[in-house]
Amino acid sequence: MKIIVIGGVAAGTSTAAKAQRELPKAEITIFEQDSDISYSGCGLPYYISDLIEKREDVIVYTPERFEARKGPRVEAQHTVKKIIPDKKQVIVKNVLQNTEKKITYDKLVIATGAKPIVPRLAGVDLDNIFTLRNVNSADRIKEFITANKPQKAVIIGGGYIGLEMAESLLEYELDITVVEMADQLLTNFDRDMAEIIEENLTSKGIKIITNDGASEFKGEQKVNTVVTQSGQEIETDFVLLAIGVEPNVKLAKDANIELGSTGAIKVNKQMETSISDIYAAGDCVENNHLITNNPVWIPLGSTANKQGRVAGNSLAEVEDSFDGILGTAITKICNLAVARTGLTAREAKKEGYQIVTSTIKAGNHAGYYPGYKKINIKLIVDEITGKILGAQIIGETGVDKRIDVLATAIYNEMKADELIDLDLAYAPPFSVPKDGIMIAGLIAN
Ligand code: FAD
Repeated sequence: MKIIVIGGVAAGTSTAAKAQRELPKAEITIFEQDSDISYSGCGLPYYISDLIEKREDVIVYTPERFEARKGPRVEAQHTVKKIIPDKKQVIVKNVLQNTEKKITYDKLVIATGAKPIVPRLAGVDLDNIFTLRNVNSADRIKEFITANKPQKAVIIGGGYIGLEMAESLLEYELDITVVEMADQLLTNFDRDMAEIIEENLTSKGIKIITNDGASEFKGEQKVNTVVTQSGQEIETDFVLLAIGVEPNVKLAKDANIELGSTGAIKVNKQMETSISDIYAAGDCVENNHLITNNPVWIPLGSTANKQGRVAGNSLAEVEDSFDGILGTAITKICNLAVARTGLTAREAKKEGYQIVTSTIKAGNHAGYYPGYKKINIKLIVDEITGKILGAQIIGETGVDKRIDVLATAIYNEMKADELIDLDLAYAPPFSVPKDGIMIAGLIAN
């Protein structure tokens, strides 16, 4: 059997590796337009800040190591230009040699991911305006900083990537401004929680402008000023565009593969698209939200890896399914861990839920034990059924385990008042006998 996988990062390599394990005799080829495969996009801000010094440390497998360990062939710097489903062929361009060839497949996987949105603003093509998506794009930013020793940076967009990069650039002692069009940072958090982040970033000397987007970039050849919609002019040495990403679906769309209401590829639980023998996984597909059962597009590496496994099993006709997501995510913004799962209060109301919320500050562990910190916990609960709909947690420590407990509770459709019955681990260095999430669960009722 000949299997072709388009895209070689999280979803593509997971799919290919799983399929090869299940189908040792299959001829599997990954085509990746970039020079790198199998890297951690999530690690790139730390590579730029030099916390991770070596480029190779954010790369899990080089094409050579992947081929040697996992089996599938990897053709890096090969772009798939077209899918021809009727003939079960793809047209592939060898980027280095500038040649094209048609290749036949039995089964095809689209794992083309997502790409940064670049706004069509005046001056957006000036030098020193960057986006961040892959290792090469991180290299460009790191090399620019190292060679030019800039003093000022403007980050357009106050989402995960923009704020992770604000932290990263603080390491270079830059004068940083974050410009966010919405009325708060991190729009996938409730405003009361996002305000904690804003205060924290402001205390670190980062300037935050909300309610105002970039409208123009000025400069001769290099950008030197960002003009905002309200007319503010911010001098800068470089700009990072981090206004979001969009699913990379052109190939699929051109092949008449059905897209969903979110604009990403529609797949079933086996990761099959609307055309037989064509599968898709990762950031290019939309997902079922486990609470609302509505399609959502929440592109995350955690999801892409899991979907790759399901797609790999489906290729081999091993029973498996990917049922959906809760949008559980965590990020580190300076000294704070910032996490969410399920629905925010705003999202829940939009979905028509009648909700109660409880927002508390609780200890990460026993108050008398060194390292005591307060963490902020917000629980969103369905007033009618008592079920937990979502949670957001922000704090210096102990955030990760609590959000994962709550993600597990939501997955299992627990009610808020059942949290108190959980047999959670306790010892003074780790927690308190009645943990904050239990208290939040009781208050929400
Ligand atoms: P991608 O990583 O986008 O890979 C798709 C690949 O397909 C690309 O390499 C692309 O070049 C290739 N491709 C596209 N079209 C073609 C074509 N026609 N021919 C050949 N190749 C093609 N997620 C988390 O869960 N946690 C985090 O902390 C986190 N942090 C992040 C931080 C940053 C800075 C970034 C950029 C992302 C972060 N993510 C995080 C998101 C995570 O990196 C992505 O969800 C994940 O990489 C998705 O994997 P993917 O394989 O679906 O898509």
